[in-house]
Amino acid sequence: MKLAINGGEPVRKKPFPAYVTVGEEEKKAVCDVIDSGCLSKYLGAWHEQFKGGEQVRALEQEWADYFKVKHAIAVNSCTSGLYCAVGATGIEPGEEVIVSPYTMSASATAPLVYNAIPVFADIEEDCYCLSASDIESKITSRTRAIIVVDIFGQPYDAEAINAIARKHGVTVIEDAAQAPGAMLAGKHAGALGDIGVFSLNYHKHIHSGEGGVIVTDDDELAQRCRLIRNHAEAVVEGMGVSDLRNMIGFNYRMTEIEAAIARIQLQKLAGLNSKRFDNVAYIEKHLSALPAIQTPAVRPDAEHAYYVHACRFDSDIAGVHRNDFIQAVRAELPHHELREQEGVKLGAGYVKPLYLQPMFAKRMAYGSQGYPFSESQVEYRQGMCPVTERMHFEELFAHEFILPSMQPSDIDDVITAFNKVWEHRDELPQL
Ligand SMILES: *Cc1c(COP(=O)(O)O)cnc(C)c1O
Repeated sequence: MKLAINGGEPVRKKPFPAYVTVGEEEKKAVCDVIDSGCLSKYLGAWHEQFKGGEQVRALEQEWADYFKVKHAIAVNSCTSGLYCAVGATGIEPGEEVIVSPYTMSASATAPLVYNAIPVFADIEEDCYCLSASDIESKITSRTRAIIVVDIFGQPYDAEAINAIARKHGVTVIEDAAQAPGAMLAGKHAGALGDIGVFSLNYHKHIHSGEGGVIVTDDDELAQRCRLIRNHAEAVVEGMGVSDLRNMIGFNYRMTEIEAAIARIQLQKLAGLNSKRFDNVAYIEKHLSALPAIQTPAVRPDAEHAYYVHACRFDSDIAGVHRNDFIQAVRAELPHHELREQEGVKLGAGYVKPLYLQPMFAKRMAYGSQGYPFSESQVEYRQGMCPVTERMHFEELFAHEFILPSMQPSDIDDVITAFNKVWEHRDELPQL
C-alpha cells in the first residue's frame, strides 16, 4: 500500500460533505426583507435612522442578549469592526498598538488606518494567543491599545492581559472572529476585553455572506463605533458630539438582508458548535494515538470554539519533517464539496508571521515614503517572534475536518489517512 504522494491509491477520492449552514429559514427571512421593499434603512445624518433598520437593530439586540453585553453594533465585516474599535479608543497618529503576528492580517493592520503603529508581540507556546509576558515587555508610553486574538477559537489569556492593560491604562480590543461560542470563566469570548469584534464572513462558524458585529459594555466606545460606522463627520454636529477625535466616518453599514440572515444564524450557533465539538472529541481520540501528534491545549477554565483544529507535530519523534508528513496526508484526502478551489482543508502552519509580509518588511503603507513607519523606531524583522516562527515553519498544522458537516464515517477516512502516512513514513524524505 504505497502512499498516494508516491503514486499509490489515496484513502479517499469522494469530496467531503459541503459545510452549508443556510437553508429554508434564511431563505424565508431574505424574502420577507425583499417583500418589505427596504433593503437598508440607514441615513448618514443625525436622525432616528442613523442606527439602521429593523433587522439590523433586532440583530444587535439579540446579539447583545446572547453574548451578555450592553451594546452590539452590526457592521459589514469584522475588518470594519476592528477599524471602528481602534478609532473609538481615540488613538493618536504615531501611537502604538500591540498586535499578534499569527492571525488574519486585519487584526494587525487595523491601527494603520489611524496612522498608528502595530507592534508585534510573540504568541504562547501552548495556546498560540498573544503572550501576556511578551506584551508587557512591548508596552511603552506610546501604547494605546492591545488587539488580542482568540486564535483558532481559543480565548486569550484575559486574566493576565486585562490586568496589564489596566495597569498601563490601555484598551483591550478582542478579535473574536474565530471564537463565537468560546468561553472563559463563564464569560463569552468577545466580551472578555473592553471591546470585541466578531466576523460573519462565509468561512466562519456562522455567517451572512459578509458581516461583523462589535460588542462592548462601554457606552462611549459604543457611540464612537456607531459614528465611525456611519459617516461620523456628517452626524456629530446634529448629535451634539464635542469629542471629534477620529470622527471621520466610513460606510460600514450592514444591509437588512445580511442582518435577517445573521439573526437566524445566531439561533443555529449553539447546535452547530455542539456538532463541531463532538467531531473534535472523536478525531482527538484517534489522532492522539500517534506519538508525534499533540492535539490542542485548552486554557484552564476555558471552552475552545475550534474554528480550526490546530495540532503540533514533532518531527524528531517522527523522523520526517512536518511539511513532508502533512503533504503526504493531504495527498490521501479530497477537498470539501463547494470549496474545491480551497483544496484539502489541512495545512502545515497557518499564515506567515505578519511582520514578514511586504508592507512591514519593506516599511511601506501610505504612499511611497514609508509613512507612518518612517515616524517610528518600531522594528519588523525575521527572528523577532521566535515562538511564532517555530510554530509556523516547524511545528503547527491545522485542519478543518471537524466542521459540523463531517460525519464520523468521514472522519474515519481522515484518521485512516494519518495512520497510513504514519505507518509508511519511511517512504518520505528522512530527517
Ligand atoms: C476572518 C477574520 C477576520 C476578518 O473578518 P472579515 O469579516 O472577513 O473582515 C479578522 N480576524 C480574524 C482572526 C479572522 O479570522
